[in-house]
Amino acid sequence: MMNAFNLKELVRENIKRLKPYSSARMEYTATSAVLLDANENPFGMPYNRYPDPFQLKVKETISKIKQVDVSQLFVGNGSDEIIDLLIRLFCEPKEDAIITFKPSYTMYITSAEINNVDVIEIELDDEFNLPIAKIESTISPKTKLLFLCTPNNPVGNTIPLSEIEAICRCFNGIVVVDEAYIDFSESISATTLLDKFENIFILQTLSKAYGMAGLRLGIGIGNPQIIALLNRIKPPYNVSQIVQDVVVKRLQFRAEIVAHINLIKNEREILFTYLKKNNLFYKVYPSEGNFILVQSKRYLEIYEYLCTHGLVVRVRNIPPKLSDGLRITIGLPEENSLLIDCLENFKNR
Ligand SMILES: *Cc1c(COP(=O)(O)O)cnc(C)c1O
Repeated sequence: MMNAFNLKELVRENIKRLKPYSSARMEYTATSAVLLDANENPFGMPYNRYPDPFQLKVKETISKIKQVDVSQLFVGNGSDEIIDLLIRLFCEPKEDAIITFKPSYTMYITSAEINNVDVIEIELDDEFNLPIAKIESTISPKTKLLFLCTPNNPVGNTIPLSEIEAICRCFNGIVVVDEAYIDFSESISATTLLDKFENIFILQTLSKAYGMAGLRLGIGIGNPQIIALLNRIKPPYNVSQIVQDVVVKRLQFRAEIVAHINLIKNEREILFTYLKKNNLFYKVYPSEGNFILVQSKRYLEIYEYLCTHGLVVRVRNIPPKLSDGLRITIGLPEENSLLIDCLENFKNR
C-alpha cells in the first residue's frame, strides 16, 4: 500500500552532507555539573543559561496531550518556523517546487519565495474542496512538498481523512497537513494516519486554540526520521527558556483551555446564525475554525464602517474564487455582540 516514498532521495544533497552545528548543551546534558562550557555568565539567574535545544519537557507535555511519541515531535518558533525549515530541508532553490491551494494560508508561498523555491498553486473547486484529479496530474519529481490546510484558513472547511490518505498514497513527497485550527473542529486529526504513512507531516500550534500566539510555539508531528532531519538544520536554541517554562506551566490547565475552546465554538454558532440571516451577506461559510468567512458586495464599505467603530476584521479578496470576502475572528461574547450591533447599525443607517 506504500507509495515509492524514499526519504533519503527527497532530502537536499547539501543537507545530507551537512555536519550539523553541535552546541554545548547538546554535547553535555546533565544540569548538576559546574558548567564552564558554553561561555554563559554565572550571573543573571534564572535566564543566564542556554535553554534545552530539544525542548524535552515541552515535548513530554505535548506528547501526552496529542497521544504521540516524543520522538515524533518537533517544536519551533511558531509553525511558521517549521514551514520554513521543511522547505529548506527538501526543496532545492530554483529546481524544486511546493504545491499549495488557493485560497489558503499564504505563509507557505511567502516562505517558498524567500527560499527561491517555485510555488504551484492549485485552485480549490467552487465549494473550496480539493480537486483530487488535478493534484494527481500536477505532481512531479520536482514537487517535494504539498501543503494541505484543515480546517482551511480563511474558509473554515475541513478535508476528509480519506482524501488526505488518497494524497499520501499518490504523492511521493511530503504531505504537510496544517492543523492550526484542529482543536476547534470535530474532525479527527491526521495524527491518526502516522502509523499508515511515512510521508505525512502534521503542523499544529499553540497560537490559536491554546491561546498562546505571543509565546510562539509551533508543533510538528511526523515520523522520527523527518524529526531527526529537522533537528539537524534548526537553529540550536530556537525556543527560548521563558517560552519553554510558560508553555509547560500553562498546559497544566487543560480544563480551562478546553472550556475556552467550547465557549468560542458556542459563540461561533451564535454569530453564524446571525450572519446567515443578515441579507448584507450573499454567502456565509460554516466554519470549524475560530473564524467565519462571509461575502458581501459591500464588503469594503462594511470593513471601513467597522473600522471607524473600533472593530477590525480581515479583508479576504482572493479572486477568482474568493471575491468580496471578510474573515471574522470569534472574540469574547461582548465583542461578538458589539460586532452584531455594529452590523445592525450599518444596515439601518
Ligand atoms: C495562524 C496559523 C498558523 C500559526 O502559525 P504560528 O506561527 O504557529 O503562530 C499556522 N497555519 C495556519 C493555517 C494559521 O492560520
